[in-house]
Amino acid sequence: MSVTVRAAAKLNLHLGVGAPREDGFHPLDTVYQAISLYDDVTVSEAPAGSADELVVTGSSHVDAAGVPTDATNIALRALAEVACGSAHAVQIAKQVPVAGGMAGGSADGAAALLAHDRLHDLRQPDDLLLAQAARLGSDVPFSLVGGTARGRGRGEVVEPIVDHGTWWWVVVPAAVGLSTPEVYRHFDRLHPDAPAQPAEPTELLAALATGEPVRLARALHNDLQEPAIDLRPELGDLIERGEAEGALRGMVSGSGPTCVFLCDSQEGSTEVLTALSASYDVVLTAVGPVAGAHLLG
Ligand code: ATP
Repeated sequence: MSVTVRAAAKLNLHLGVGAPREDGFHPLDTVYQAISLYDDVTVSEAPAGSADELVVTGSSHVDAAGVPTDATNIALRALAEVACGSAHAVQIAKQVPVAGGMAGGSADGAAALLAHDRLHDLRQPDDLLLAQAARLGSDVPFSLVGGTARGRGRGEVVEPIVDHGTWWWVVVPAAVGLSTPEVYRHFDRLHPDAPAQPAEPTELLAALATGEPVRLARALHNDLQEPAIDLRPELGDLIERGEAEGALRGMVSGSGPTCVFLCDSQEGSTEVLTALSASYDVVLTAVGPVAGAHLLG
């Protein structure tokens, strides 16, 4: 028997970053949105006495070779946390860009936790799964919850928020990823006097409740955009180009280097996709919000 769980990529509609805490983590006030790019994670039991096995495949735009297949893969780390020594075979079919600032690894971790729970019919309560997820990584709880949600702490304290929109995005991944810790280190260099409290998403929350794309576009905010563009200046050119082609607003997704463009409608996103495809190898469209990790079939 096997269980397949689908988990979505995330964007940060708002990413406020404060000065590093004593434990080294940056306090965040963020608004996540799950969008329609998915990783599918299939988990089955492996024969007793064997080791965990992992196979990773990817869509044409995904660098599956950049994903570790050893015990450091977050899906296997998730199983090591919860499986009490029994072995599993895992397949990950990736659509989410690797090291792209879209939390693909976190999606796989969340999917593995849920798949293990259902494979063994444990039916653990949500708060237990969320606590397991928070131990794996800051973005993993949101990957379970999905939709549109505010994240505080390191991002792991997640609270769903009102979102009356259907938001159309164009997504432009980069061929080479950016390291999230490197982008945070560069944020610290650029902002040695960052406030302890990260910026709050007050206007963004109001915009989400109206469902109005022009208003949301104005309220998008990412404190990691400046360090990401400083490390990769071509991201700034890409954002200008997408906005010139008709997107309401472009921004770096999380720590980058994927850039995302909010459009006024599905037709608008198709037009921006067509225009950017003339110059960029991989251009995708996606819609949000979509569900958190869930069983397929
Ligand atoms: P985030 O936005 O959460 O910081 P990201 O989207 O920038 O993350 P990921 O795709 O999650 O980046 O991967 C970051 C690194 O984690 C990869 O470079 C890879 O070495 C490692 N990794 C471990 N497990 C996975 C996985 N299942 N999928 C992708 N990367 C993984």
